[in-house]
Amino acid sequence: SQLPEDLEESIFPHQVHAAAFSWVTPKRTSNPQLVTSSRDVASILGLSEEQLKSDEFLQLFTGNVVPEGFAPYAMCYGGHQFGHWAGQLGDGRAINLAEVNTPLHGHKVLQLKGAGPTPFSRTADGLAVLRSSVREFLCSEAMFHLGIPTTRALSLSLTGDSVVRDMFYNGNAKAELGAVVCRVSSSFMRFGSIELPAYRKDKALLKQLVDYSIKRDFPHLLNDHENDSVRRYLAWFDEIAQRTCRLMVHWMRVGFVHGVMNTDNMSLIGETIDYGPYGWIDNFDLSWTPNTTDAQGKRYSFGKQGEISQWNLFQLANAIYPLIEESAPLEVVLNNYSKTYQQQWHEMMSNKLGISAEDINHKADTELFLALETLLGDIETDMTIFYRLLADFSYDEKVKANNVNHFADCFYLDEQLTSEHQARFSSWLESYANRIQHDEKTAAQRKTAMNNVNPKYVLRNYLAQQAIELAEQGDFSQLHELQKVLEKPYDEQVEFHHYSEKRPEWARNKAGCSM
Ligand code: AMP
Ligand code: MG
Ligand code: MG
Repeated sequence: SQLPEDLEESIFPHQVHAAAFSWVTPKRTSNPQLVTSSRDVASILGLSEEQLKSDEFLQLFTGNVVPEGFAPYAMCYGGHQFGHWAGQLGDGRAINLAEVNTPLHGHKVLQLKGAGPTPFSRTADGLAVLRSSVREFLCSEAMFHLGIPTTRALSLSLTGDSVVRDMFYNGNAKAELGAVVCRVSSSFMRFGSIELPAYRKDKALLKQLVDYSIKRDFPHLLNDHENDSVRRYLAWFDEIAQRTCRLMVHWMRVGFVHGVMNTDNMSLIGETIDYGPYGWIDNFDLSWTPNTTDAQGKRYSFGKQGEISQWNLFQLANAIYPLIEESAPLEVVLNNYSKTYQQQWHEMMSNKLGISAEDINHKADTELFLALETLLGDIETDMTIFYRLLADFSYDEKVKANNVNHFADCFYLDEQLTSEHQARFSSWLESYANRIQHDEKTAAQRKTAMNNVNPKYVLRNYLAQQAIELAEQGDFSQLHELQKVLEKPYDEQVEFHHYSEKRPEWARNKAGCSM
């Protein structure tokens, strides 16, 4: 699927060679308006609340003003999309505005998303609509507060300009509200940043970029492998694999489905990046994907994330091969990945169930976990609600019907459970009750531990959609409220209980749309 380079040049004239970025100036906006901001991110950057509300802030973070000394640029990268090499992609609608050395969190890059075209925009406009910007803002902040590595969001502003979108690609284009999000991360480098020079056989640039990534974001590797660059590159790759693995297991823990795990959307530092058509699991379903273009293969479904991340790492390994010139040590990392993923998944599931991950129970516990996944899928059970109910569960020996009844709030099926489902669920609960009897934690300790890993509040797809529809009418109240609730996803917050409820029936099969 790779186009010959000269053909690629003629289709996409802006091929950027021998460089990792291009200077760009953000587009001016006609009537910017701040919709929301993150106080937490602002404080990391040393911005006061007053500054957040200032006109200067608004002009700066919508790209209207580029202060002297700033040199905004868009990054060049390639990527594998849906399993095929796609050539140069690059930041078509993202512009790195500045970098801040923070006192406590190291360097942070401030990036505007939707601030106008760049040399990488190809045929698109470089803009973003309110809808996709709300999704990026809310979800990245929610992800952070769940304790999961992610790019952050400093601000979300309307531009005052309209943007034309054909949301369902059906020829019904409509004008939408333009918006800009300021994203923040230590690094926006992707697997695809490394792949592109490798594919172009530009070994000098390849080496420069890997060295840059190490120096900036993996500086400990410089000390560990001072005189041995091959070992340093391997250690770097290994650490990226470790971080990616941890990230995948986190996503599985909270029911997040990224939806476009192309290698241009995989962060080298192991953060969740590029919030596009992502979705959250309501009823537990490993085959579910929010990506409506992922037609045949369900390549980007919930249950495939571990496997696909390994495939992506394989592409990264291929890309750095010229710096290592030996495949065996790269293969070791890739092969270990499955093992590490299994181990971490096991530990994560043990934590979700409130049991300690001990070797002697390993095999039986794995069976317990897998049986639970099958059950939750077969009975259409809300994943998030189930685990919170499980933390409150105590087995009733005498009236066994009480055991299944305790979970009544998390089933999606209209009718009562069938007697077969009842029996299976009841028998799983009995096994679980037996298992926790042998665990050292008290019930109270177990409950606390479980509620610290099983969120009560996640950004359910329909909640984001409701917030967006109101925001499009100029009402930002639900957006602000959701943002606030999702800052404490593990807390009960009884006054906001309605945000933790099951997806209503009308919202079934409605994934968010991202463009
Ligand atoms: P994604 O699938 O969102 O990661 O995007 C894939 C590529 O398309 C990236 O290079 C993006 O920068 C680019 N892209 C997506 N939307 C736009 C847009 N509205 N204008 C310009 N480039 C875009
Ligand atoms: Mg992307
Ligand atoms: Mg995107």
